[in-house]
Amino acid sequence: MNLHEYQGKEILNSFGVEIQRGIVATSAAEAVNAAKKLTEDTGTEWHVIKAQVHAGGRGKGGGVKLAKNLNEVERIAGEIIGMNLITPQTSAEGKKVHQVLIAEDVYYPGESEPEEYYMSVLLNRANGRNMIMYSTEGGMDIEKVAEETPHLIFTEEIDPAVGLLPFQSRRIAFNLGLSGMAFKKMTKFVQALYMAYIKSDSSLFEINPVLKTSDDRIIAVDAKVTLDDNALFRHKDYEALRDIREENPIEVEAKAVGLNYVDLDGNVGCMVNGAGLAMATMDLIKQAGGEPANFLDVGGTADAERVEAAFQLILKDPNVKAILVNIFGGIVRCDRVAQGIVDAYKNIGNIEIPIIVRLQGTNADIAKELIDNSGLDVQSAIEFQEAADKVQAVLS
Ligand code: GDP
Ligand code: MN
Repeated sequence: MNLHEYQGKEILNSFGVEIQRGIVATSAAEAVNAAKKLTEDTGTEWHVIKAQVHAGGRGKGGGVKLAKNLNEVERIAGEIIGMNLITPQTSAEGKKVHQVLIAEDVYYPGESEPEEYYMSVLLNRANGRNMIMYSTEGGMDIEKVAEETPHLIFTEEIDPAVGLLPFQSRRIAFNLGLSGMAFKKMTKFVQALYMAYIKSDSSLFEINPVLKTSDDRIIAVDAKVTLDDNALFRHKDYEALRDIREENPIEVEAKAVGLNYVDLDGNVGCMVNGAGLAMATMDLIKQAGGEPANFLDVGGTADAERVEAAFQLILKDPNVKAILVNIFGGIVRCDRVAQGIVDAYKNIGNIEIPIIVRLQGTNADIAKELIDNSGLDVQSAIEFQEAADKVQAVLS
């Protein structure tokens, strides 16, 4: 589950990470009040207005802007709220902005220029260890740094048995070129950031930029946080942080009816029981010249109701040009699934795309008969290859 920047920052702050202070607002009037309140706390009249959407690169898309007084806060917040923000990380249509974060300007001029660093904590899946990735080249374009100057990105691996050790946070501060007070503050920042990551059961904490201000504060200016869905049961309070407006609507609906659905870009919808078979089916679709439109595991109890719910979901995706149903009748009987398909087809009504059904296992022959005699425009297959050929035929 992804969080908004302001939510991520609240979690960071609760673990003692210093953050750029801010207040979230859903209208220009709220933004002005937020700015007034922040000025009381921080003393600065300058604020940055930041679109809150689940996508990075907001600065490049015009979703992060500086306001030097309350009039500018009102105008800019009004412009950003309701806009369709297009960034390198959104689709071409962009994302609708429902709220902005009004935050203190922490780039205030001083004796020295503020420095922007990059820092993230994530799981290195290759060795099953958490690691901290960091770089002196923070700011907007870490992907470019990784591509062009990978030697400027450092990593610190953490032994799960002992956790992050003090010498490691010192090494990070040292590699970032810090000394004196900034060095000390950075070691504290790293320790607190790592605790926040561990205690919140996150799979990603990305802070870009981490800022060293002209007066040597070390501050999280941005926060991209992904919580581990499998650990959410341990954090009931985080459930309230979910913003379903940011999630794929078909996936949200699938979750509500207990189906395991992942939206993909292709044109062949697939309905399968079992995750392994679903992966194999996606390969099959690719071999037949198609691209899977989704991953959908209907699970072991593929009864008529679930089959119908699954059909409804797949049909919501306008890119779907054909549907391949691939069910192995082990626990579930194929004829029950076939009946479910026929019923769903009739209930849904105007299905205009070809459907290929492959049922294998218990009562597969009865199931095939059921489908063939249903009078519906559904093609049945028993062999994997046969199904692939039929998919290929309808796509060409
Ligand atoms: P992102 O573009 O989605 O990664 O959003 P960020 O929160 O990282 O903001 C984008 C950029 O805006 C940062 O890299 C900074 O250069 C700039 N920025 C953010 N906060 C401030 C601020 O308080 N003052 C100024 N002057 N610039 C800021
Ligand atoms: Mn950023």
